[in-house]
Amino acid sequence: MRSISVLGATGSVGESAFDLLMRAGGPDSYRTIALTGGANVRRLAEMARALRAEIAVTAWPERLEELRAALAGSGVEAAAGSDAIIEAAARPADWTLSAIIGAAGLAPGLAVLDRGGTLALANKETLVAAGPLVMARAQARGARILPVDSEHSAIFQALNGENIESVEHVTITASGGAFRDWPLERLARATVAEASCHPNWSMGQRITIDSASMFNKALEVIEAHEFFGLGVERLRVLVHPQSIIHAMVTHRDGGSLAHLGAPDMRHAIGYALNWPVRSALPVPALDLAALGSLTFAEPDEARWPALRLAREAIQAGGAAGAVLNAAKEQALDDFIAGRIRFIDMAPAVEHALELSAREAGFAQSPRNLDEVLHWGGFARQAAAQWQGAA
Ligand code: NAD
Ligand code: MG
Repeated sequence: MRSISVLGATGSVGESAFDLLMRAGGPDSYRTIALTGGANVRRLAEMARALRAEIAVTAWPERLEELRAALAGSGVEAAAGSDAIIEAAARPADWTLSAIIGAAGLAPGLAVLDRGGTLALANKETLVAAGPLVMARAQARGARILPVDSEHSAIFQALNGENIESVEHVTITASGGAFRDWPLERLARATVAEASCHPNWSMGQRITIDSASMFNKALEVIEAHEFFGLGVERLRVLVHPQSIIHAMVTHRDGGSLAHLGAPDMRHAIGYALNWPVRSALPVPALDLAALGSLTFAEPDEARWPALRLAREAIQAGGAAGAVLNAAKEQALDDFIAGRIRFIDMAPAVEHALELSAREAGFAQSPRNLDEVLHWGGFARQAAAQWQGAA
């Protein structure tokens, strides 16, 4: 029986994974080692009971007693705190999904790689903040990373083992998010509630707002750069409002292979779970006649400056990914808290990139977790200060 762990089990991706695991037989088909979550300890305990996990971990120490109570009599171990999440990630499991949100996913992901495990990676921030470190660690420990972000799973599937050298370019699509058709001048007044509605995908709030600002796509461009080793000249973004084509690989012979599917994360999660086998998944096949047409447009970079920042961060290299990711997390926190406007997020991130580029050591990509955290702290402070200047 295969053993699995899910980090960030109570989130949007985690719930989709739980659904797949339960439909596939739950504890009769998988031996669950660890499940981790955040504040929603009641749901975490429910999942841990259903999958008969070895251990359930909440990120928040003040929730430990509540988690213990919810697990009473189940035989599931309870723990709390970020070190306990890392310890749970380090426990041997055949397959580990990282579906934590934000840079908090990096240390647990490294713990999976350090034990030579298979890391199914939804947490794109792991690669954005520390791509060279993460890829080198995986190689050194003989660990495998399987992409779960839908666009990267799509590239992985469309590549189908072909040599990346034969690829002319890769296109990842973007729905355009909540504000695709808004008049530009209205964006300054966009509220958190308006930014939290996605036209096609049902996701966590933070990534939904990042879709409206295109910071999600910016992170994904950097993620594709780190994972597939493609330079900016070979990475394209296309607005595709229907979210049916997730990515397309164009080879140097002019042929393109696209990956199509309904916007349902259970496809990408299930593909990584069953890889290299394709098993049946509870995802409906496409009905293209019912869809009628698929449309595409070049992204407008006046509307979505995040895409330019991603390209510039790739070109700058060094600590730019760690800075962009952390500055974006700070700017998003500030927007959600009402401290800055929607359109202030990109300038705040750009400000952090400019300030950090003047710092000693910026040209060197972070060599360890401490260096990632150092740049993350610097970037958050710089992004937060920008609002003071505004
Ligand atoms: P979410 O906010 O719904 O869930 C995040 C999970 O991480 C929860 O279990 C939460 O409790 C946990 N968590 C939050 N803060 C934590 C911390 N500091 N330490 C440990 N755990 C913490 O997020 P999501 O939308 O499921 O996204 C998860 C990851 O997957 C993100 O990196 C996102 O970019 C990526 N992703 C999501 C989707 C999607 O459809 N939601 C698609 C592609 C990629
Ligand atoms: Mg994606």
